[in-house]
Amino acid sequence: MCHTQQAKGWSLPENWIAGQWVSARSGGRREIRCPADGTLVAEIDESGPEDTAAAITAARDAFDSGSWRSMSARERGDLLLRVAGLLERDTALIARAESLDTGKRLVESEYDVADVVSVFRHFGRTADDEAGRVVDTGNSSVVSKIVHEPVGVCGLISPWNYPLLQVAWKVAPCLAAGNTFVLKPSELTPHTAIHLMKVLAEAGLPDGVANLVVGDGPGAGAPLSTDPRVDLVSFTGGLATGKQIMAAASASVKKIALELGGKNPNIVFADADYDTALDFALTAVFLHSGQVCSAGARLVVQDTLHDRFVDDLVARAERIRLGGPFDEKAETGPLTSAQHRAKVEKYVAAGIAEGAVLRCGGRRPEDPALADGFYYLPTVLDGCTSQMSVTQDESFGPVLTVETFTDEDDAVRIANDSIYGLAGAVWTSDGGRAERVAARLRMGTVWINDYHPYVAQAEWGGYKQSGIGRELGRAGLDEYRETKHVWHNINPTPQRWFAG
Ligand code: NAD
Repeated sequence: MCHTQQAKGWSLPENWIAGQWVSARSGGRREIRCPADGTLVAEIDESGPEDTAAAITAARDAFDSGSWRSMSARERGDLLLRVAGLLERDTALIARAESLDTGKRLVESEYDVADVVSVFRHFGRTADDEAGRVVDTGNSSVVSKIVHEPVGVCGLISPWNYPLLQVAWKVAPCLAAGNTFVLKPSELTPHTAIHLMKVLAEAGLPDGVANLVVGDGPGAGAPLSTDPRVDLVSFTGGLATGKQIMAAASASVKKIALELGGKNPNIVFADADYDTALDFALTAVFLHSGQVCSAGARLVVQDTLHDRFVDDLVARAERIRLGGPFDEKAETGPLTSAQHRAKVEKYVAAGIAEGAVLRCGGRRPEDPALADGFYYLPTVLDGCTSQMSVTQDESFGPVLTVETFTDEDDAVRIANDSIYGLAGAVWTSDGGRAERVAARLRMGTVWINDYHPYVAQAEWGGYKQSGIGRELGRAGLDEYRETKHVWHNINPTPQRWFAG
C-alpha cells in the first residue's frame, strides 16, 4: 500500500527558485500515483514556461554574480562531499520516496541512493584534480596555458526510471565545474529531486545556483532548450524527445549532452559458464522490469546453445515474482504508468505479428492483488532477427528478444545491427575472443562475463543514436567545462609588421 508523501513532510510548493519555494504561476497541480497500486502519493505543482523562465533568470543571475564559479574548485568539492553525507543520512527517506514514485522495490531504491552518494563523492573528490595545463609553444617569451571554466547556465532534464540517480549524474559534475542550473525532473517522479534541493541548501550552496521546476516536458522542460540564456542542455530520456531538444537547442547553438535509449545485445557463446550466463541473462533484461536504458533486451545466443539455454531461461522467467515496493517476496515491480504498459503491449503484439514466437509472458498477471498496478509479465520472444522492429525498437519493458548466431563474425554483425550503441555484453570462456568482440562492438559500455555494473569513475554514454557526450568519469566533468587558451607574452616588443 502506498502512502502520501505530504504526510511525510514534503514541502509545498515544490518549485525551488533563487533559494525560495514558490508555487507554479499557472496554479496547476498534478497527481503523483504509485505505479504499484495506483494510490495517491501526492499532489504537486504543474509548472509551465513562465516558471522555467523565472528559474533561468535566477540561474543566470547567480552565474553572472560569480558567487559559485569564483569559489575555488576545492571549496566546491568540499560542498559536494557534504551533500553526499547528507544524502547518506537521508537514505531511508529518499529510498521510500523513490519507491513510491516509481513502484520499484525498496531494496533497489536503497541501492540507488548508495549510488547517488557515490556519484556526489566522486565529483566532490575530483573537482580540484586538475586545473588545466601548460603548453610548450617553443617560444620562451610566452606562457601558454589551458584553463577550464564553467559553461554557464545548464538546463538539466531527467527521466523517471532512476530519478535521483540520473539527476545526480548531471547535478554533481555541473556543480563541481562551477555552473548554475535549472533542473526539470520527470513529471512522474519529482519527489527525490525536491529533496535534493533541500539538501543542497543545507550544505550551503548559494541561492540561485540550483533551481528546480516540476512539470511536464512540453510545458516546463522545453524552454530550457529554447531560452538563449541557457548555455548547455543535458538531457536523459527517449530518442524522439532527444531529437526535439537537439533541434530546438540549435537555434541558439547550445552545448548539448544527450543520454538516449538503447537496445542492448547480450551475446552468449556456447563456451560461456552456463549457469552464470543464464542467471545474468535474466538480470540483464528483467531488472526493474526492463526499465533500464542499458537493459540486455536482445539475447544473441550461439545456435548450438540456443535450445537448452532458452528453455531454461523461460522456465525461470515464468517463476519471477512481481510485487509492490514493500513486498519482500517480490523480485521486480510494475511499469511506470498505464500509458507505458500500453506501449509495451503494443510492442509485443507487433513482434508476434512479424513472426516472433511468444515463449512466456506477453500479458498482464492474473493475480488480483496486482490488478491495481501497472504490471506486465516477464516476456520472452524467440525466433527474432535483426530485421524485425521488435529487435530494433526499445520497449523499455520486461521483454527479451532472442536471436541466434553461428560464429564470432556473425555475433558481432548482429549485435552492431542497431541504430543504438549504448551498452552490450559478451559471455565466453575464451579470453582472446572476449577482447576481440568487445573491441568490435560499437557501444559506450561493454561488459565481459558480467552485466549492469558501473562506477562513477568510468564514463557512461552512447555511440550512434544512443547519445552525444558522456556522463561520469573525467569526460562527465568535461561536459560541464569550457576550455580556454590563455597566451601570455611575457616579453612584449614591437613586431613592426606594418609600416614599421
Ligand atoms: P522522455 O523522453 O519521455 O522524458 C525524459 C524527460 O524529458 C522528462 O523529464 C520529460 O518531462 C522531458 N521532456 C519530454 N518532452 C520534452 C521536451 N519537448 N522538452 C524538454 N523536456 C522534455 O523519456 P522517459 O520516458 O522519461 O525515459 C525513458 C527513456 O529514457 C528511455 O528511452 C531510456 O532509454 C532513456 N534513458 C536513457 C538513459 C541513458 O543513460 N542513456 C538513462 C535512463 C533513461
